[in-house]
Amino acid sequence: MKIVDVKTYSLVYPVQEPFANAMRWTRERAFGVVEVITDSGITGWGEGATVPARRAIEAQVIGRNPFHNEVIWEGLHKQGTDTAAISAIDIALWDIMGKALDQPIHHLLGGAFRDRVQAYATGLFRRDCADHTAALVAEARGYADAGFKAMKMKVGFGPDYDIKNVAAVRRAIGDDILFAVDANCGYDRGSAIAVGQKLAENNLLWFEEPISADDVEGYVQIRRALNMRISGAEQLRGRWAFRRMIQEGALDIIQPDVCVCGGFTEFRKIAAMASANHVRVIPHMFGTAIRLAATLHLLAALPDAPRALEPFPALLEYDMSENALRTMLAREPISHTDGIVAVPQGPGLGIEINRDLLEKYS
Ligand code: CA
Repeated sequence: MKIVDVKTYSLVYPVQEPFANAMRWTRERAFGVVEVITDSGITGWGEGATVPARRAIEAQVIGRNPFHNEVIWEGLHKQGTDTAAISAIDIALWDIMGKALDQPIHHLLGGAFRDRVQAYATGLFRRDCADHTAALVAEARGYADAGFKAMKMKVGFGPDYDIKNVAAVRRAIGDDILFAVDANCGYDRGSAIAVGQKLAENNLLWFEEPISADDVEGYVQIRRALNMRISGAEQLRGRWAFRRMIQEGALDIIQPDVCVCGGFTEFRKIAAMASANHVRVIPHMFGTAIRLAATLHLLAALPDAPRALEPFPALLEYDMSENALRTMLAREPISHTDGIVAVPQGPGLGIEINRDLLEKYS
């Protein structure tokens, strides 16, 4: 089998009701999608934060055997291709390999430890409204009523907003729901520690990206100072960026994004490094149905760590924000029931792409 063409799509979805994290307002969502076409009639789909340049595709992808994922990865990287763009190609290669073997990708990754994954609702953004606390409490109660046993709220808006609203949401949802917070790199080291000490009183599952994504020394300092798990690394690209974060003991939990870190091929290397260093892996997921499906295959194939009778759950980040490219790009949408999501069982990624929607948002 040989790759004969690669089509790239730059997708933009305009958001109806803008929302903010600590760094920016989101008014549209942008994603890169690739379609890798082979001479056998099999087509694979991949997603990345960006797509590769035509020159790199022609030099490193076209004419190759799609099973040579390592060779293609190294070739693209050596050529200077953005790792997020390599991710898109790599995911498409695994989709092709699965389809060619008539097996879901998690079978190729070594088999499933689980066929259903507990999801945590990612929402609780800052909205343009008069009473943030009331809006957040209502939204959090909605997730609990929908069956979610875990959720995550955006912080990083200053001590007043964070301390007041995290306490209000924790009170509203009770103590049985897992509750994490995410500052999206909105604090410096000192503020992260000062605010974090107050937030830690709310029995939080983790404090995500308190500071700049690459500040290894800062994360080490914050992790020592705070009595809760520190997570991050969703923006890191390639095994070398993760190496220092993991080996310096900077994070309790790494959150590689399969569409940013380098696809399945690189994610496995990062996860192995984390396992060897007793660091937990909970993938980041904020994208289209392709990223959602890819993340589910990875979660199916991640062993429990530690291998306890009652292990810390393998959690899927379930983005609750409005995005038709997540909810409608796959012909059969991937949805949750009582906060649980089934791992796709069809060949490859296990989804069929809605080409009309792809064209509409291209
Ligand atoms: Ca995040």
